[in-house]
Amino acid sequence: MTSDDSEAIHPAGEHETLPEVPVALVSCADYDPSHVYDALRRGIELIGGLERWISPGTKVLVKPNLLQGLSPERAVCTHPAVMGGVIRLLNEHGCEVTLADSPGGGIRYTAKNLMKQYQEAGYAVLAEDPGCTLNLDTGFRPLIFEGGKVCREFPVITPCFSSDHIVVVSKAKAHILTLMTGATKNLFGLIPGLEKPLIHSRFQTAERFGDMIIDLNLAVRPSLQVADAILAMEGDGPTSGHPRHLGVLLVSPSPLALDIILCRLMSIDPLDVPYLSCAIQRGLCSADGKEITLLGDPPEEYTAHAFKKPRTYRGSRRTIQTSPLFRMVHTLGKVYGVRPTADSSRCTGCGKCAAICPARAITMDRRHARIHTGECIRCFCCHEMCTEGAISLKRSVPGSILHLVLRWF
Ligand code: SF4
Ligand code: SF4
Repeated sequence: MTSDDSEAIHPAGEHETLPEVPVALVSCADYDPSHVYDALRRGIELIGGLERWISPGTKVLVKPNLLQGLSPERAVCTHPAVMGGVIRLLNEHGCEVTLADSPGGGIRYTAKNLMKQYQEAGYAVLAEDPGCTLNLDTGFRPLIFEGGKVCREFPVITPCFSSDHIVVVSKAKAHILTLMTGATKNLFGLIPGLEKPLIHSRFQTAERFGDMIIDLNLAVRPSLQVADAILAMEGDGPTSGHPRHLGVLLVSPSPLALDIILCRLMSIDPLDVPYLSCAIQRGLCSADGKEITLLGDPPEEYTAHAFKKPRTYRGSRRTIQTSPLFRMVHTLGKVYGVRPTADSSRCTGCGKCAAICPARAITMDRRHARIHTGECIRCFCCHEMCTEGAISLKRSVPGSILHLVLRWF
C-alpha cells in the first residue's frame, strides 16, 4: 500500500478534467496456462509494462476473488490459471508474491479454513512455486483513511501492511446486491471474515455501501488490476449464477476504468451499479468512460448481448427516476423488492447463513435455516454464502402483482 497511485483511482473535482487512464482488453479463449500467460503479458505491455506500475524486486500482495473456494468451472473464484499467470509475471519481475484474501463472511477467518478455500479454488498448487506464498496469517489491523466520505477506518487483513504493492485479480460477475462485481468491489475481501457483516450493517443502503467501497479503494490504493472475464458469471451472482463465456482478460491501473469497460462487455449501465454511480458523482470517473484509453482488441467482439441480470435488478436507474409510479413504489421497497427465502428441502443445516447475517434475521430451527423477513435488511449475504442453492430470492404475492403492473410503465 505504499505505491504511487498517480494514475489509479484519482479524485477530480466536478469541473476538473479526469486524468487519462489506460485499460487493455486482450482476447483469451480458454484457461490453458500458456494462453493466459501470453494474453496477460500482452495486456500489461499495452498499458506500459509492469515496471510502470510495480517496482521490481518488491513485495506484492496478489488478491483474487476467493469468496468461498469453489471449483474453477463454477466461475465463482478467479481462475487459478489467471492467478498463476499474474504470479509468474511478477516473479519474472523479481517480486516476492503473497496470495491473500479473506473468504466470504460466513466462513471464519482461520488458517485451517483459508487452506481449505485455497485448495478448493485450485490455488494450493500455486505455492509449489518458490515465488509464491499462500497467506495463512489471520490477523487484521485498522487502516485509517481521514479522507473517507462515509468510512474513515477499515479493519484490513495484516499482509496488506507488509506489501509494497497490491495487485487485484478479480472475476467478472453479475451480483445480486451491486448488479455487477469486478475490480472495485473485489477489495471488500480485504475486510476479514466476520467483520464483513458488521460493515454491511453499518452501510445498509446501496448508495452508502457504494460510497464505502469507493472509500476502501481510495484508502488501499492497489497498484494494478487484472480481471478474469474469460468465463464470467451472469444471473444471480456472485455465487449462484451461471457461467458465461466472454473470452477476454482486462488489465488497468484503475479499478473504476476497468469496471466501466466490464459493464460494456456485460451490457450493464454503470449508473445502475451503486459504487460506480457513487464514484461518478464524486468526480472519480465518468459514466461514458471518456477518460479511458482502450487498448488491445475491439470490445464489440466480446460483448455479451442479453447478459442475464440478477433477479434483484429493478430496471434502469433512469427509469426509476423519471417514473413517478416507480418513485412511489421505491418507498414500498419492502413489499416490492425480492427477499431471501430458505428452502428446507435443500438446506443442510450448515448454519453459514445464520453466522453471516448482519441483522441476525436467520435462526436455525431443527437444523434448517429460518429467515425472519421483518428483520432482514436485504444485504443478500446469506444467498452469497449458501453453496447448496437453498436460499432463493422471491417477491411476496403483493410484490409480484406490483412487479407485473410496473412492467407496463
Ligand atoms: S440455507 Fe444454505 S447456508 Fe443456510 S444453513 Fe441451509 S445450507 Fe447452510
Ligand atoms: S436474511 Fe436478510 S439481512 Fe440476513 S443475510 Fe440474508 S439478506 Fe442479509
